Amino acid sequence: MDKLFSIKMRASAAGKHVSGAEKIVPESALPACSDALLKRALLHAKGKPDFVNVKCEEVAPEEILRLKSLPVSTLPAASPEEGLASMETLLRDLGVPDPHAVVRVLLEFCQGMRGAILLDVDSMERLEPDQARGVRATRMDDAQSAAKPFSTLKNHYAEAIVLATKVAHAPRILGEICISDDPDYATGYVASKRFGYVRIERLKPMGSPLGGRVFLYRGPKELVSETVEFLEKRHVLVEDVPELRRPLVRKSKWSRIESTLAELKEKNLHRSEIVLESAQSAHVVHQGRSLLMLASNDYLDLANEPCVRRAAADAALAFGSGSGGSRLTTGTLTLHRDLERLLADFKGADDAIVFDTGYMANVGTVSAVVGPDDVVFSDELNHASIIDGCRLSKAKIVVYRHNDMDDLERKIRENPCGSGLVVSDAVFSMDGDVVDLPRLVETANRHGLLSMIDEAHASGVLGAAGRGVVEHFGETCRPDILMGTLSKAFGSSGGFVCGSDPLVDFLRNKARSYIFSTSLSPADLAAAAAAVRFVMEHPERVRSLQRAVRVFCDALRVNGIDARSETPIIPIHVGDEARAVRISQRLFDQGILINAIRYPTVAKGSARLRAALMATHVDDDLRDAARAVADALSEIP
Ligand code: PMP
Repeated sequence: MDKLFSIKMRASAAGKHVSGAEKIVPESALPACSDALLKRALLHAKGKPDFVNVKCEEVAPEEILRLKSLPVSTLPAASPEEGLASMETLLRDLGVPDPHAVVRVLLEFCQGMRGAILLDVDSMERLEPDQARGVRATRMDDAQSAAKPFSTLKNHYAEAIVLATKVAHAPRILGEICISDDPDYATGYVASKRFGYVRIERLKPMGSPLGGRVFLYRGPKELVSETVEFLEKRHVLVEDVPELRRPLVRKSKWSRIESTLAELKEKNLHRSEIVLESAQSAHVVHQGRSLLMLASNDYLDLANEPCVRRAAADAALAFGSGSGGSRLTTGTLTLHRDLERLLADFKGADDAIVFDTGYMANVGTVSAVVGPDDVVFSDELNHASIIDGCRLSKAKIVVYRHNDMDDLERKIRENPCGSGLVVSDAVFSMDGDVVDLPRLVETANRHGLLSMIDEAHASGVLGAAGRGVVEHFGETCRPDILMGTLSKAFGSSGGFVCGSDPLVDFLRNKARSYIFSTSLSPADLAAAAAAVRFVMEHPERVRSLQRAVRVFCDALRVNGIDARSETPIIPIHVGDEARAVRISQRLFDQGILINAIRYPTVAKGSARLRAALMATHVDDDLRDAARAVADALSEIP
């Protein structure tokens, strides 16, 4: 028989624990297993360790206790209160005299301990020899672990069952209670020989770092050392650990919908829509009342421009209301090709391809140009449609720090790949800042990677004539793939990609959101083409927008708000979600429509008002609005 070895890995950075793991495996599995543990240490999300110790020791088979895994079951809980009540009921059934007090120990005293509290359930005395560290159950593994593929990822579920099984079999231990200390994981369990491993779905609010474990002891104090000795020293292999499969829990078919809505409302993250009774423009009408529109992406006010509206109406009359099919079947009209040629001309590219929305352009393009063998390097503040495209592509996704080209360079070096893509917004939709295009394109080219820029908020905005990033930064910085939308400065609907002939040909054949969806309607196409033509013929409209930005930022600064932007997106930081909503509501009551942007669109706790300007805003309106914003910020707690 193969000899058995215990492997222990510990990794730390600047003396602080980063990662740890242990396994008991046959000698033949030793190289693969130690390699996987080393990789796990080096790739740990908590950061790069500066010290890793992988220790391998032979263990005599007779030193190993083999135990059958505790059976696993799950108790659903709609709220932390319900979960904690279930935990107390289980403790009562185990014969614990004061379950409530035991749960309080778990909630109040475990923070920051690497080990568990060892609690005498009758005297409520803490028995761990070292109370700062706690008691650690170690030297155990899943008996099958050598037969399962070694993963650099930790299988938390299986490791918890192995640990709970060992603990439940320790002498004089009634059971164990545990809450995960992972803020994004609200479950925990009660484990005992009597009831098995009972997962409880919700024991704390999401986002809470609370967590810990308590081993429940019943017996004479003199024998505590024997229990600790078993927990810390005895080698245990656990057999028949259930697969990592979510145990089937029967729930009401509406439970996900109902609980999600309740949670959104509780956290002030629930959104509803304001219904407008007029066209998008500098002023709009809501419930018969005129509002100053400071929240539209229709930056050049072209959705309401007479020649654009007329083009849409004429096209509907001439070509009908719908396109009738996807582009590759019968849905290509002369209007599609006219618009694509016009966009290519506007952007100085070989050709263009039009999608139904900007969202679909990003999802379809990213998921077509990279695949499972590639790496996508993506700015951490990229738009959701880029993120979704990355996920759909199955490529490895490496996120670099926002607009930080040194970090991009570092991440490319750390993740060598045969082929890949660097992708970024041109103007970041929630911050209004502009990508460092010269360095991005230079870095991507030097490493042989494709570059893609999303110009959703740059077309009609950046550059003296509104032609976007290439006009703004110069032809030498042209990215391989220029994506844009027709739904913002072009006042219509749709998305597009400009680039080389082979790129466009490839996307027509491979972008699934292009192939499998009915193409844009005649009215949308004609409106977009009229809008692009309008921008080409009226660069002064772009200049009016740039002037509005200066007027509004100056007025905000006069009122004590530090606002600077090169683009019509001007974020005014608030932080707290509920306060941002209150401020936006007050402005709304005063006749100013300005959105409160919250998680998940931006990071938690970084809620903001997002002012979006239009070329047709008049100076007085902008100055009045800046004063109202400043008043609301200073008066609303
Ligand atoms: N990219 C960015 C940066 C965006 O802000 C948006 C729209 N919010 C899109 C893509 C999607 O464009 P569309 O609205 O045309 O689907």
